[in-house]
Amino acid sequence: MRIDVLTIFPEMVTSFAENSLLGRAQRSSLLDLRVHDLREATTDVHRSVDDSPFGGGAGMVLTPGPIFDTVEREQPARPLFLLGPGGRRLDQSFARELADSGGFSLLCGRYEGVDERVRRHLVDGELSIGDYVLSGGEVAAMVVLEAVGRLVPGVMGNAESAIEESFSSGLLEYPQYTRPAEYRGWEVPAVLRSGDHARVARWRRAQALARTLHDRPDLLGEGRVLDDADLDLLAQHGLLGEEGPEATAGSDPT
Ligand code: SAH
Repeated sequence: MRIDVLTIFPEMVTSFAENSLLGRAQRSSLLDLRVHDLREATTDVHRSVDDSPFGGGAGMVLTPGPIFDTVEREQPARPLFLLGPGGRRLDQSFARELADSGGFSLLCGRYEGVDERVRRHLVDGELSIGDYVLSGGEVAAMVVLEAVGRLVPGVMGNAESAIEESFSSGLLEYPQYTRPAEYRGWEVPAVLRSGDHARVARWRRAQALARTLHDRPDLLGEGRVLDDADLDLLAQHGLLGEEGPEATAGSDPT
């Protein structure tokens, strides 16, 4: 899988990649990450990539020249996404879509953004990491790289982690516990130590349903409503009340 990142701060992205699980993925050739410095396409002594906006106003805008030149010279993987708050919002299913594709590229804006002609005539789409404004696309690119990178087969040690975790099944993940079995008087639910895998699986699903219902009911709203089996499971685990999953996390239903 090939991912190209176009930025005026290449070292931010490369050092992040080297120090995360993406570094290992690159070394084992699972991921071909190419970071391009937009300043390399400049010709003036100041290596300038930005200029003041036509029409006036605060801040600077990335000029189209170095961006078009870099894309034409380096031929980054397509689709090429401009990172920006107005784009399609990244979520787990978008990350999954990107991970299943052969590759893609990310263009990082800075300052007030990029010249509109880049948006209209060069990129294939826009990608946002959420409804807030960052100072540059680099952090957004790192978010995309991490969310997508860990879904590429072989990148994460345990393939099952990606199947079971939050959002994959449309639910938040069930609560996780590790040693010690008792900490400051708080005990790990006995069912998790019972060795009864079927019971553990039912408890986890009930907890995931309850947690989602309580913390993120919006996830259940769109196209997915609890069916009778889900409701039964919640009732069996005493999780149909108002209190939410934590209130009964320690209970041990049969
Ligand atoms: N003036 C612009 C914001 C520019 S922020 C506006 O009001 O829409 C500078 C750069 O940061 C953007 O070009 C973009 O690449 C990046 N950026 C800011 N917020 C982002 C977000 N939510 N998702 C992805 N990239 C973002």
